[in-house]
Amino acid sequence: MIDPERLDLPSASSANRRARCIGSENLIRELRARDLLEPLPESPDAKWGTDIHAAWAGKELQLQAEAQATLEDIKRMETLVLADWSSGEPYSLLGREVRLWLRDGIMPVASGKYDVAYTQGTNRVLILDAKTLYSQLEPAAHNDQLRELVALLRFNYPLFEDFRVAILAPHATQPISIAYFDRFEAELALRLLRLSLFQSNDPNAPRTPGPWCKVCPAQLNCPELRALVPLPKETLAQRVERGDFTLPLGTEGSSFLHQIHTAKAVIKSLEEAYKEIVLKDPNALPGWALRNGKKIREISNTSAALQTWIDAHCNPNDFLASATVSITTLQARFGQATGFKGKRLTQKFNQLFATELTYKQYAPELVPLPLEPPQLP
Ligand code: SF4
Repeated sequence: MIDPERLDLPSASSANRRARCIGSENLIRELRARDLLEPLPESPDAKWGTDIHAAWAGKELQLQAEAQATLEDIKRMETLVLADWSSGEPYSLLGREVRLWLRDGIMPVASGKYDVAYTQGTNRVLILDAKTLYSQLEPAAHNDQLRELVALLRFNYPLFEDFRVAILAPHATQPISIAYFDRFEAELALRLLRLSLFQSNDPNAPRTPGPWCKVCPAQLNCPELRALVPLPKETLAQRVERGDFTLPLGTEGSSFLHQIHTAKAVIKSLEEAYKEIVLKDPNALPGWALRNGKKIREISNTSAALQTWIDAHCNPNDFLASATVSITTLQARFGQATGFKGKRLTQKFNQLFATELTYKQYAPELVPLPLEPPQLP
């Protein structure tokens, strides 16, 4: 078994990928059976999110200043949403980091883990889900993972009638997003989950590459995804020069750009996977070797270094002129020292350093816009 926590079964965290690439579960199962499902290397972003979630669940962890500030923002949002939801009436904690199972008889068929859930009375429940990355998010009402969590709650707690779900995302453009499901909608969510599991068992279910491939465990062995990886740079450049390659615009162009983003992420994963292979077997790729990464000098204890500089009878101003300040860390320390939090902290910090702060503008980036909710007639 590769994933003992989920018993190698579909989980709510893969609901988005399963909804958009219905054939992905078959490929994952097949690769797992042939012992070809390589675990994806953990990205720094994933590690950062895992640590913040673990600390939120109560694990003692020493977080970096920026991660600590994110955790405090999440806790503050939790308090706000909880106060609004409970309206001053008593409530209780249902659990933190609890995995719920969907079963056929006694056999588990799927699962999902919620971050935090609270209950009020016998029929109200609130699920909170934290997202720690700096990326666009689907609102709670259209989030596949949260809908499947509601389905799992409906299955495990049939008395619940009022389901509130909230995404807490301090770095998103909409930091708090809330949705409501009544008993009938929760029942529909459960039926949709069962339908998704049924459809993904169809041996002919199609595979559809897209942005969701970035988190698919089959990505290193998926023929449909590999077909997206572009031709070598020179060949593509020659084709552009010859004029037989024009950039599509409109919806075709948007979909092509999505494919480029996906292909970039896949190429990165493929390269990381090759690194792991050469690490284990240096002869696996003739003509290629793993070179040690560059080693650069750094000073981790700035105040000790400044003291050393002064002891060497050098001018402290020259030292300070060579140092750069991490705004994020400094602001987090300012928050710890003053007790300010969230937007108020940024405001106070910006006021304090109004004459010293300068802004560096990076080149514009192409980013996908969040999907528009369907318009009701
Ligand atoms: S890599 Fe993409 S296309 Fe292939 S199975 Fe996974 S989600 Fe589907």
